[in-house]
Amino acid sequence: MPNPSSATSARGPARKPDPDRDVLAFIAEVMAGAPTEPLQAPPDFLAAAGELGIAFEPGEVEKLGRFLGLLLHASTRMNLTAIKEPGQAWQRHILDALTLMAPLAELPPGSTVVDIGTGGGVPGVPLAVVRPDLRFTLLDATAKKTAFVRAALDVLGVKHASVVTSRAEQAARDPQHRDAYDAAIARAVGPMATIAELATPFVKPGGVALLIKGERAGDELADAKAALHLLLSTHVGTLETPTGRIVVLEKMRPTPKAYPRGNGEPKRRPLRHDQDRPA
Ligand code: SAH
Repeated sequence: MPNPSSATSARGPARKPDPDRDVLAFIAEVMAGAPTEPLQAPPDFLAAAGELGIAFEPGEVEKLGRFLGLLLHASTRMNLTAIKEPGQAWQRHILDALTLMAPLAELPPGSTVVDIGTGGGVPGVPLAVVRPDLRFTLLDATAKKTAFVRAALDVLGVKHASVVTSRAEQAARDPQHRDAYDAAIARAVGPMATIAELATPFVKPGGVALLIKGERAGDELADAKAALHLLLSTHVGTLETPTGRIVVLEKMRPTPKAYPRGNGEPKRRPLRHDQDRPA
């Protein structure tokens, strides 16, 4: 009786695992099963966007709905978002991302924006749809997530956004990314001190980090006072939005060489005291 292991080897040598290829094959399969029709925007989304002063160009709402359809579909296969209900997703993913339109309005065409920990593409993808004049870089450490975001941008025909698979701690040491962006944006990547250490190294001196936060933004800022000081950044304002708060940090000078610290450190041991300053 043939045993299963010899049956396997009869098909030839086992192929060497190739994580990149496995991820691409998985995402191709996910996208093949994705809806081809955009999700319809509910009236309360359009009303809320109107109240934010956002006037969509033709086709933009449809692209946002297309993205949301892909995101919700992909979430059934991988860990991208816990929100399943479309109406809620329009609020929590699209509208929440678009609250950054107001602070980004100050950036002239051609400015560069990096989304740190973009996950399934929020807030970066919705913003790229409505600000085709900016150049976006969407960064995440998880290859499966960046593969999804790349595939989604492809479907949407968004060409002014590039996707980087890297830990922020590492990309921030690359001269191509360090002190390089007009703005860094982020949502749900960690408490203030953590995300400030991960995001501000990417920002040009004089540029801003725009962090989507919840109602605890004030407390988080108080906890991050020493961190902001060490990162040569200041809190220049907090905007109240229909979905939460946006904390605006300005980077005053190039980030000291010591930051960000090694992989995982900004999360494991958020900067808290001036004595965290490396000797
Ligand atoms: N911004 C998205 C995802 C939030 S979940 C949203 O709001 O829906 C946090 C994401 O940050 C995850 O996708 C995780 O992979 C990524 N992340 C966490 N720490 C990171 C780091 N140090 N470098 C790069 N990505 C990181």
